[in-house]
Amino acid sequence: MITKELTKVLLANSVSIYDVESLDQAFKDLETLGDFTPFETLQFVIKRLGLNDLNVSHTSTSQLHDGNLPGIIFHDGRWKIIKKSGSYYRIIDQVTLDEVEFEFEDLPITVVTWLERRQTNYDKSPLEHLITTKGLIFKNFKAHPVWLINIAIATVIVNLFAVVSSLFAMQVYDRVVPTLAMETLTSLVVGVTIIYAVDWLLKIARSKIVDHNSSYIDKKISLDIYRHLLNVQLDKLPNQVGTLTSQINGLESVRQFFSSTIVFSLVDLPFALMFLGVIYLIGGQIAFVYGGFLIASIVMALIAQKRCKDLAANLVIRSNEKLGVLVDSIRGRETIRSMGSSAMFEHEWNEINDSISDYSLKQKRISTSATTTSQTLGQISYVVAIVIGVYLIGQGEMTMGGMIACSILGGRVLGPVGQAVGHLVQYESVLQSMRMIDSFWAIPQQRNPTLKYVYPDTRPSRISIHNLEFKYSEEGQKILNIAHLEINQGERIALLGSIGSGKSTLLKVLAGLYKPSSGHIRLGDADLWELDPEYISKNVSYLSQTPELFKGTLKSNLTLGRPIGDTKILSVANRLGINAIADRSEKGLDLEISEGGAGLSGGQRQLVAIARMFVGNANVWILDEPTASLDPNTQAVVVEAIKARMLPSDILLFATHNPKLAMDLATRVIVMNNGQIANDAPASAVQLRPKSAKLVSNG
Ligand code: ATP
Ligand code: MG
Repeated sequence: MITKELTKVLLANSVSIYDVESLDQAFKDLETLGDFTPFETLQFVIKRLGLNDLNVSHTSTSQLHDGNLPGIIFHDGRWKIIKKSGSYYRIIDQVTLDEVEFEFEDLPITVVTWLERRQTNYDKSPLEHLITTKGLIFKNFKAHPVWLINIAIATVIVNLFAVVSSLFAMQVYDRVVPTLAMETLTSLVVGVTIIYAVDWLLKIARSKIVDHNSSYIDKKISLDIYRHLLNVQLDKLPNQVGTLTSQINGLESVRQFFSSTIVFSLVDLPFALMFLGVIYLIGGQIAFVYGGFLIASIVMALIAQKRCKDLAANLVIRSNEKLGVLVDSIRGRETIRSMGSSAMFEHEWNEINDSISDYSLKQKRISTSATTTSQTLGQISYVVAIVIGVYLIGQGEMTMGGMIACSILGGRVLGPVGQAVGHLVQYESVLQSMRMIDSFWAIPQQRNPTLKYVYPDTRPSRISIHNLEFKYSEEGQKILNIAHLEINQGERIALLGSIGSGKSTLLKVLAGLYKPSSGHIRLGDADLWELDPEYISKNVSYLSQTPELFKGTLKSNLTLGRPIGDTKILSVANRLGINAIADRSEKGLDLEISEGGAGLSGGQRQLVAIARMFVGNANVWILDEPTASLDPNTQAVVVEAIKARMLPSDILLFATHNPKLAMDLATRVIVMNNGQIANDAPASAVQLRPKSAKLVSNG
């Protein structure tokens, strides 16, 4: 059987959130169930952890792809981890941490087992019916009722114990002090010490459970949010990167609030009522004094919370804008510098900061005045309670011990209530952050999760459009309006048209990135939006007008996590001249690339993005200005590579402003104007003049 530690490595790599205790339990159960193969062990574990979107897979080392790793392998009499590192495979012993390195050819022939995520389930994640963060937190708690029960039990006991101190003081004043009964004192002290010890244990246990849960829920929600981001309908995503980042980041403040001790002070608040009850039993009317204080404080807190509502909302909006300005100025730093526009940006930055500090000062003022007033009210209640106590003692209705006990219990009412006043105001900010995340949840997912996807067993052989309309927003104007368009097997289509005519938008709609506002697109025989996303990403390759590169290496940018062998990568790199980029560094294809592709020139970035399509296996190629940043020589290399690479039945559709590219590659030319098709003719029937870049129809 494989160890828990090995399983943890595989689970971590499969980006799964699971409950550590359930994993422990699963392995305990496995021990009693007898011998399992690693394959069976992993199946058992993922089932027990409820990770239904994972699959256990295995293959021979001779068939291994990078995408399969890390996996586990039986080597030298033990199960070990196998990882890829550069062009080598490393086999690591989790126990001794010994490592052995192999070239692919030298790997011992055996089986490698790994956990694989079923791609299509990404957007069938449990978010579909839940679009609120609160709902999500609640749901996660509900999924583990044991946690809630444990916390509730601990909370009740801890608060019951709090009464003990007061009873202890009362007994000491009433029984021990008048007669100096030392034996009674000893037994009281022993009793109270035991209770305090248990109280300490319970409090530690309670915060351990809460920490454990909140970190679990935190990881889960954070992953859910990220998945949502990766799966939202792209045309519905807000354009402001800064705002969006900050919206998602709002989760941080929600998390901090819920995982801090603040939760306890709010959970303990209802117990103030219980303390009031005990005060009533001991001191009668004194309870009304503290009760009055309780009501006054809570009313005040609610008013303060209400007054902070707009402030908190504005604060959140302005903070988002601040991040937006920051992102924009980092992205546009060169333009700002060369245009001498620093003053304008400084002004904007300063203005936002001014209003942020204005709002937070106001918020702080409200919160401070509420907490201070509540503290003063508390002090007054204390004095009034003492005065009433003296009066009651005078009447013989209460003992001195009773009065002391009431003071101690009164403290238990004053303390949490005073804190809660501050926290309620803070909670308002958290609510605002949650609302912000909720508005992000509300962006629809790319696919309708209730739809069953179609996964045809043949490759798409044609694309057809019927009555297609596309708008970026409900109220916006139609960006695309195409009644009919048929693209058949083997066609090479150049999409021409002036800037803003809708070429890029059409390509994105055809690649399944943007959803048509109305009408249909068929890929092969199925509706594009009913096809399994995995089928589309396997068969349709899309190159964006602005090639995006990611932090990693040249190679990781080519594969982007797809299982692609080195031989293929090397042959594509050779063909497109990527090796010239790789040769610049000793690391070759492991050349490091920074965020956004920094470290490469504009043309090199475009070339890498083109190569990324070449290492794939698509048969529908959708390219948006593929050669815009390339020099004529590289452009010729790319054209030749495309010609050589494409099978006769493949479909090629590319937008360009370059007549030469159109002439070199296209068999059909479509001209767009204002979102409509203005002209559609075979390439042989049109004459493209490289100089004027005008299209002249011969027909
Ligand atoms: P170019 O040759 O400059 O690349 P294009 O033909 O590719 O132009 P598109 O990018 O498809 O043009 O844009 C078509 C229209 O859609 C333009 O009028 C543009 O202003 C508008 N548009 C593009 N992106 C958005 C967006 N995110 N939100 C709203 N409108 C947009
Ligand atoms: Mg464009």
